[in-house]
Amino acid sequence: MTEIDNVIAKIRALKTPTIIENEPMSKLTTFKIGGPIRAVVFPNSFEAVEPVITAIKRGGLEPLFLGNGSNLLCTDDPIERIAVCSRPDGSGYQPYTELLPGSRIAASSGSLLGRLAMVAMTNGLSGLEWSSGIPGTLGGAVKMNAGAYGGEMSQVIETVTVISPSRKELTLSNDACQFSYRHSRFCSDDSEFITAAVIKLQPGDPAEIQSKMRELSKRRKDKQPIDLPSAGSTFKRPKDGYAAELIEKAGLKGYRTGGAAVSEKHSGFIVNLGGAVCSDVLRVMEHVQEEVLRQFGIELEPEVKIIDNVLPIRYR
Ligand SMILES: Cc1cc2nc3c(=O)[nH]c(=O)nc-3n(C[C@H](O)[C@H](O)[C@H](O)COP(=O)(O)OP(=O)(O)OC[C@H]3O[C@@H](n4cnc5c(N)ncnc54)[C@H](O)[C@@H]3O)c2cc1C
Repeated sequence: MTEIDNVIAKIRALKTPTIIENEPMSKLTTFKIGGPIRAVVFPNSFEAVEPVITAIKRGGLEPLFLGNGSNLLCTDDPIERIAVCSRPDGSGYQPYTELLPGSRIAASSGSLLGRLAMVAMTNGLSGLEWSSGIPGTLGGAVKMNAGAYGGEMSQVIETVTVISPSRKELTLSNDACQFSYRHSRFCSDDSEFITAAVIKLQPGDPAEIQSKMRELSKRRKDKQPIDLPSAGSTFKRPKDGYAAELIEKAGLKGYRTGGAAVSEKHSGFIVNLGGAVCSDVLRVMEHVQEEVLRQFGIELEPEVKIIDNVLPIRYR
């Protein structure tokens, strides 16, 4: 028995979490790319998270935290890791959301942003309209400081609760999260699992909030290739300009390798046209980075998180 087998046996003995072995990451990500991960664990309750992470760490392994997999590009090779997923496993457990006094919502990290925006809207709370079309969980959105149309998580987060490396529960203030553009403290330190957050909003008119959400959803549908598998914007916005604009100016719209291509609809997205493998996407990314650097002297930094057993240095 290897160490990873021992850890899986220990997690199985905990009984509450659901554990699935050798699940293809293509099933767990919006890119629909990726080989089998040794195991994915759905803790399905707050209480179960800590013992799962403890078991993985005691086995000398680093857990891979997973939300909705909407910002991930995974290798096609088998991944010798254990993922801990904040989403429900389909067994009936639902992430919680709770209205708090002072226009606030407490929610568990597996809550989808679209659902949170709906809860806010139906309760006359404004401030999350921008997030309704982002296909991520609250946990993934906090880590990435997800944002759109002038809004971002840093503007609405009051506190974030994590299981810390010492395996203790810790509640962090907004300042402690060190938010900046598509970045937070959780990007520099992968070891904290986000379990929940409190969001601070403002009172608003539900009809106006709904109308704003509909308008933004239409803009998304008109401009983005949401009918094709992707991980959203492939690159971060560089200091000087917009990634999509630079890629288009470089003549790379539609540039294709295998099943992966720069979207014809929005050059900021690389899409899976069908049957794309991880190396197809990496080749497209590499070519785009080289061309944008050669033509404009601007380095594009990936926004998607790349999950590989061995990564080229520039993607770590
Ligand atoms: C069609 C499309 C449109 C998109 N539009 C936008 C947009 O407008 N703006 C934007 O910012 N992004 C956008 N994205 C990207 C993506 O949806 C966001 O980054 C989202 O916040 C990721 O959430 P997730 O739950 O899917 O995280 P995942 O992809 O599962 O994970 C992302 C990172 O967060 C970590 N993580 C996940 N959950 C936890 C947790 N509980 N604790 C600690 N770490 C965790 C993972 O390890 C990983 O490093 C888009 C993606 C798609 C496919």
